[in-house]
Amino acid sequence: MNSTVAQLLKLQQMDLAIRKLGHDLQQIPKKSRLIDEKIRGVKAPYDEALAAVAELEQRGGPEAGLRALDEKERALKLKMPGIRTNEEYSALLKEMDATKKEREQMEDRSLLDMERLEKLRAELPALEAAYRDGEAAVAAERDALKAEHEALEADLLKCKKDRQALQSSIHQGWFRKYNTIAAQRNGLAVAPVKGGTCQGCFVGVRPKLVQDLHYGEEVVFCEGCQRVLYLDDEPAGS
Ligand SMILES: [Zn+2]
Repeated sequence: MNSTVAQLLKLQQMDLAIRKLGHDLQQIPKKSRLIDEKIRGVKAPYDEALAAVAELEQRGGPEAGLRALDEKERALKLKMPGIRTNEEYSALLKEMDATKKEREQMEDRSLLDMERLEKLRAELPALEAAYRDGEAAVAAERDALKAEHEALEADLLKCKKDRQALQSSIHQGWFRKYNTIAAQRNGLAVAPVKGGTCQGCFVGVRPKLVQDLHYGEEVVFCEGCQRVLYLDDEPAGS
């Protein structure tokens, strides 16, 4: 095989390997989500309980609200001596009554909150245990995925380094030509000829060009797809 074609073919193999590694790396988050999916049934209830506890704890007791009501009641009482008419008096009573109801509601709500918080806190250990069991069940899968991820990253790094080294040994003009064809042909710039046919576009290659390929003295391009050609002596269809 022509030595330039051999280099370009090697470059193409590396580019395809890099492309595949990139694609495989993109699958990692998807695979990770599939593992998450397996334990969602035990993780979601635990997360929800944790969030509810945090919210209730943050809401705190009714102290602040009750203090505001104390202020309001005090202000209403101070109005009492200035009252001149029955209308004013009944309006004030109505307001005081409303404040009292508000206080009762607030106390009821706070009691409910406390009960709910207590119940949630009691449930948490069992929910957490179920979640931990779930994580333990998929631990091996997570480890395998992590190892796969690391191996892919390492392979990709090595491939890119090797490619860089190869690229610097290829004549710039050929390298640009390769890139131009690859960009037009979905990354396949070099194609084998089998049984007299270009395997890139399946157009027959003229006998003269096949002969040139045998000699290997110059780079031969396919007249159908403009790819760089090389002879693949394996029987077609193998
Ligand atoms: Zn072709």
